[in-house]
Amino acid sequence: MADLSLDLNEDQLQIQKWVHDFAESVIRPAAHEWDEREETPWPIIEEAARIGLYSFEFVANAFADPTGITMPLVNEEMSWGDAGIALAIFGSTLGVAGIFANGTQEQILEWVPQCFGTPDDIKLAAFCVSEPDAGSDVSSLRTRATYDEASDTWVLNGTKTWITNGGLADLHVVVASVDPALGSRGQASFVVPPGTPGLSQGQKFKKMGIRASHTAEVILDDCRVPGSCLLGGKERLDERLARAREGRSSSSQAAMATFEASRPIVGAQAVGIARAAYEYALQYAKERKQFGRAIIENQAIAFKLADMKMHIDAARLLCWRAAWMGKAGKPFSAGEGSMSKLFAGETAVWVTEQAIQVLGGYGYVRDYPVERWHRDAKIYTIFEGTSEIQRLIIARAISGMHIQ
Ligand SMILES: Cc1cc2nc3c(=O)[nH]c(=O)nc-3n(C[C@H](O)[C@H](O)[C@H](O)COP(=O)(O)OP(=O)(O)OC[C@H]3O[C@@H](n4cnc5c(N)ncnc54)[C@H](O)[C@@H]3O)c2cc1C
Repeated sequence: MADLSLDLNEDQLQIQKWVHDFAESVIRPAAHEWDEREETPWPIIEEAARIGLYSFEFVANAFADPTGITMPLVNEEMSWGDAGIALAIFGSTLGVAGIFANGTQEQILEWVPQCFGTPDDIKLAAFCVSEPDAGSDVSSLRTRATYDEASDTWVLNGTKTWITNGGLADLHVVVASVDPALGSRGQASFVVPPGTPGLSQGQKFKKMGIRASHTAEVILDDCRVPGSCLLGGKERLDERLARAREGRSSSSQAAMATFEASRPIVGAQAVGIARAAYEYALQYAKERKQFGRAIIENQAIAFKLADMKMHIDAARLLCWRAAWMGKAGKPFSAGEGSMSKLFAGETAVWVTEQAIQVLGGYGYVRDYPVERWHRDAKIYTIFEGTSEIQRLIIARAISGMHIQ
């Protein structure tokens, strides 16, 4: 009767070690350089593609793990190496998730492999939702998609902002409003295939952290895509719009479940950063001597490290629980996906700050990696739903009320 186990299976242990070795030998040594350059680390992406880590097959297999734990494991190890480079490598999976969430089987088979390409011809993807005036409030998107029946094409117009791989990607998945009066229920997702005229990159942002990951505006100016690029197809969209216009229930519950299921993967990235900082600070505290003894021999420092370790383990367990729930199709009745991302993100910010404190002045300078980890950690309280929005989701789930 001992069904519950937190032991990783052989496959998971093997994948974890393989990704860790890559993170340790390839990503970590390159982290400082690409943070300073603030450019896409192409040689590292190429290496990841060469060994099969950046590939449709690997990501599909990792997603297929029936326990749900493999994707969090992979993401923790990658971000332990460096979160910016990890996002430069795996940022395409945001676009992939957008296709999986809304596409037909045919569309998934057509477009998802094109998000990765091959080691000789690497492709990137981007997922474009956020706009200058629509961040947390995704129901107010202004980007419009209008249907041109004569040519069976959709015409996209608008500006997307803060897009990971924006403009750099070969394939963009764009969420646009088909019927603004219906808010988020009047929106649809479109694949913009490589080289489509009318899509261009706007400004590239200079960021506080995860600087190896490209973040930019995406401008859509009369960007025409074939009717087949509407994810889910026209018939399904028309039915959905008709239901929404009549005030009948829509698929927003399904969309919410998709987001809840992807949050522990993002949370695991934050756990990876926190673990990197904790391990570094622990080692440093054992070696650094002041007043004739190692600084860890002071409870003030040792207790900090104890708390850091406890928070990291708790964050990881929340991520694993939510990942397992998502895979098992359990309802996220208390916003468990949001809990995992929220707690892991805030843990990463707190742990990396504690790590700076443990290193003292050495923690504050760029010769040591700890200040970079703190800068990188901060994004995890902002993107993929801010901490405030995660708290709203949890509060609404536990109360059953529309908390504002
Ligand atoms: C590096 C980076 C990469 C990104 N990558 C992508 C990407 O690939 N694709 C994409 O579509 N987007 C991406 N984003 C956008 C990201 O998801 C948004 O920045 C985020 O959703 C917040 O939106 P906003 O920045 O407009 O902030 P706002 O929504 O303007 O929020 C500002 C503040 O107000 C708070 N707030 C807002 N509404 C409420 C409320 N109802 N209750 C309480 N507090 C509230 C927020 O929590 C926040 O603290 C990225 C952002 C960054 C910085």
